[in-house]
Amino acid sequence: MGKTLRVFDFDDTLAKSVSYIYIRHADGSQSTLDPAEYAVYEPKAGDSFDFRDFNRMLNNPKVIKKNVDLLRRMISSPEKKVTILTARKLGFPVKYWFKKNLGIDVYVVALGDANPQAKADWIEQHIKKGYTDIAFMDDSIKNVKAVGSLQKKYPDIRVKSVLAVEHLTTNERKELLEQYYSDKFKELL
Ligand SMILES: [Mg+2]
Repeated sequence: MGKTLRVFDFDDTLAKSVSYIYIRHADGSQSTLDPAEYAVYEPKAGDSFDFRDFNRMLNNPKVIKKNVDLLRRMISSPEKKVTILTARKLGFPVKYWFKKNLGIDVYVVALGDANPQAKADWIEQHIKKGYTDIAFMDDSIKNVKAVGSLQKKYPDIRVKSVLAVEHLTTNERKELLEQYYSDKFKELL
């Protein structure tokens, strides 16, 4: 029998923390992005990224209740493997925060890699280990697409890749939805 895997991103999916990504551009200028902005940022040649805020202990992040409730429900069913999969370099601050503030004991995997393919690769390893029912939730459309593409590669298993939108305003959700359908349409051209 196949095994079940449930995977959640952390930043802006389960909680919104005050952390920024600092970019130094090829011309020497700098910009600062929050995780939602970073999720849709198209890297330019010569950009260098600094993720220092994500290596610290968490500074009172705001819980995204709907998704944390979902996480809690999934953890309560022992036949499911439930993991937080983060691009952060350190998993410990996330694990510690869940335990201390929410009383949730959760397995955290820190990839130290913000490339969407890194998340897809981690999930693909689990497909190879016999997981056949997989659900993934992330606020980054790039991550959702990378993981979602595994469904095409493995049509016999179930890969459900879901975009978390709870951290967005109504307008941002609308824009994202429009972008999503326009991309879908372009795929048909
Ligand atoms: Mg995120």
